[in-house]
Amino acid sequence: MPELAALGGFDAKGPACFLLEIDGRRLLLDLGQGPDGGRRPDLEGVGPVDAILVSHGHGDHVGALDLVERLGNPPIHATAPVRALAADPRLRDAHDLPRDGMVAGVRIETGRAGHAPGAVWMRLGGPGGLLYSGDFAAASRLFPVDPMRHAQVAVLDCSYGVLPEALDSQTRALLAAIGAGPCLLPAPPAGRGLELALACLEAGPSVRLCDQTRHTAEVLRGFGDWLTPPGAKALERLLHHAGPLDPEGPLADVMIAGGPNCGSGAAQVLGPRAIAAGVPLIFTGHLSQGSPAAGWVAEGRARRMGWNVHPDRATLSRALEQVRPTRALAGFAPPDRRRAVAAAFPGIRWSDDGRIAW
Ligand SMILES: [Zn+2]
Repeated sequence: MPELAALGGFDAKGPACFLLEIDGRRLLLDLGQGPDGGRRPDLEGVGPVDAILVSHGHGDHVGALDLVERLGNPPIHATAPVRALAADPRLRDAHDLPRDGMVAGVRIETGRAGHAPGAVWMRLGGPGGLLYSGDFAAASRLFPVDPMRHAQVAVLDCSYGVLPEALDSQTRALLAAIGAGPCLLPAPPAGRGLELALACLEAGPSVRLCDQTRHTAEVLRGFGDWLTPPGAKALERLLHHAGPLDPEGPLADVMIAGGPNCGSGAAQVLGPRAIAAGVPLIFTGHLSQGSPAAGWVAEGRARRMGWNVHPDRATLSRALEQVRPTRALAGFAPPDRRRAVAAAFPGIRWSDDGRIAW
């Protein structure tokens, strides 16, 4: 009888970590840290697992891979773009996560999930098994999405609960707020940073990219299958037109800086400089507890505007129509959002304790 247990990522934004026992095997789905307060999954009593499958390379999904020894040093599997962009050698040297194949004796099928470079959803154990969405989003101008497959049980990214806003209206609002610049937009270099840059470039304002964000764009050029065709062309234009962003240089143009909460990367240096100079600073992601971003927004010195990299209500509804699960777990959602999802989609038995056995 298959069994799923959330070791993280239930009733909280993260860290993503789910243990799936199926066909006599034990698979760990992601092993993240944070995003709030550096929280790590509870591995107490978990014991050895047969493999770790990584949905994408964000810290809240891979940041605790240093704990692999406590899990018997199992093989780690990740897609090619995730491996190519990884700083952690454990991830860089990981095995492939197949499109359709066997891992540790279990059938694994994956599809592109939008959201970030090389991000996938995965179905484990065929239609009677589990669909794990990882983080997913509606197709963007850069990252394509493959329809999910039917599975009896689903773990779905419900980070936003049942948010009605779609990315189109958010994009218009953000571009209006940016105007002609200057403006600082901190963002994860592997994901939203490039999408923000493309939207700005198409709308008119000059864009500068920090080295980390530019590096992501350069690596992604080698993975055309993981980009929309217009997105691949737009990426070339971006690399041609975007200027460099020196953290110590002038505060000019729309500045796309790695480090979503100004606690790391170029944004760590540029954030305080923008605040001191009165240059508009707009955050577009999760404000991690205790981060400079959370503090400045609370004090009214910076803004937080929406930019969906997780499913809005319509996208979540579409995923549920594709997967048609009988039981599901609302992942990465605090209790109020988890309950809102369960209320909005009542035909499904939603887990209220982070576990499902079937
Ligand atoms: Zn993510």
